[in-house]
Amino acid sequence: MKNRLLSHRLQNISYSQTLAMSGKARELKKKGYDIINLSLGEPNFFPPDFVLEAAKKAIDEGFHYYTPVSGYLELREIICKKFFRDNELKYSTSQIVVSTGGKQSIMNVLLSLLNRNDEVIIPSPYWVSYYQMVKLCEASPVIIPTTMKTNFKIHPEQLEKAITPKTKLFIFSTPCNPTGSVYSYKELEDLVEVFKKYSKIIILSDEIYEHICYSGKHTSIGIFSDIHNQVVTLNGLSKAFSMTGWRIGYIGAPEWIAKSCDKIQGQTTSCANSIAQRAAISALQASPNQIGYMIKEFKQRRNLVLKMIKKIPGFQVNEPDGAFYVFPNVSDFFGKKFNGKIIHNADELSDFLLEKAQVATVSGSAFGDNESLRISYSSTEGQIIKALTRIKQALLN
Ligand code: GLU
Repeated sequence: MKNRLLSHRLQNISYSQTLAMSGKARELKKKGYDIINLSLGEPNFFPPDFVLEAAKKAIDEGFHYYTPVSGYLELREIICKKFFRDNELKYSTSQIVVSTGGKQSIMNVLLSLLNRNDEVIIPSPYWVSYYQMVKLCEASPVIIPTTMKTNFKIHPEQLEKAITPKTKLFIFSTPCNPTGSVYSYKELEDLVEVFKKYSKIIILSDEIYEHICYSGKHTSIGIFSDIHNQVVTLNGLSKAFSMTGWRIGYIGAPEWIAKSCDKIQGQTTSCANSIAQRAAISALQASPNQIGYMIKEFKQRRNLVLKMIKKIPGFQVNEPDGAFYVFPNVSDFFGKKFNGKIIHNADELSDFLLEKAQVATVSGSAFGDNESLRISYSSTEGQIIKALTRIKQALLN
């Protein structure tokens, strides 16, 4: 039951399904069930030693106090260097804002730009929180659906068709959560041809999975000079450095947007955690080769998951080029009976797999696709093998 005292804004949004499912898995585990959690996008590695050392040193050296609202200058300088080194993007420190995780970075940008009923174009499948955050701002998500046939990527014509005079923002991720799709240079260039005709549309490019890219080098849409001033590039430490709990996200943005994010942050959180920021300096200073071992491992796991999933009758899957998710279509199971109950949709299949196979996945409905499941392979090979074997058995009936 909705409490009438809650704001309309809040009544209109739902809980994060990714966090809800992993919370459910955690509770069941606590009760003694042997749950394998493939729901959350959380790498199972330890952060690199040099990053941990930097955090310990920061405590000993007394970095206990508020930092500048947008982050330590030293960190913003390193972020500028990182953007140039890894992404060929030129930003100055006044264009960088460090926040409490990528989620806060996104929310800062949305609050900076959106008025009620403004439209935000989001290709689907999309990461769960984009949609809900847009609604939290009382703006309207405009969805461009994609399918496995196009590797879940949009075409320029679809983009142009979705644009109206109310369009304020376009949000996407590459590599994509939840599909693992990666836009090539050429595909981005084609989208840029459209964006450059609409200079008032801002593009929020979520690149948090940039290093977890198996198809060659990740491309940032901000490198195209015609639209550079329309792009906000989002990144963070959670995925690349396995530092989800440290909550460090950051943006490179046109200065007027960065300033506005600073203003919002100054009134809401003051700054991101000081110790985590010191650790971020050492993480981002390091060459990406330092985390190469994680990427190599993710690639092996992706291949393993694909090999096993293809042997489960009823799962249709494409080969994702990045991130650590597979996103199989499971509509073959709809209308079939398992445990005496008919499965009607992906939510019910995900619930059934949790109950019967004790494997937690996330229903595609969280990401705007009712026919798929998201399976995260940010877990050990042993756990992945066990989980997929159990899923296969549960569905053999
Ligand atoms: N981004 C991760 C995921 O999609 C973490 C959970 C969340 O923030 O949604 O699973």
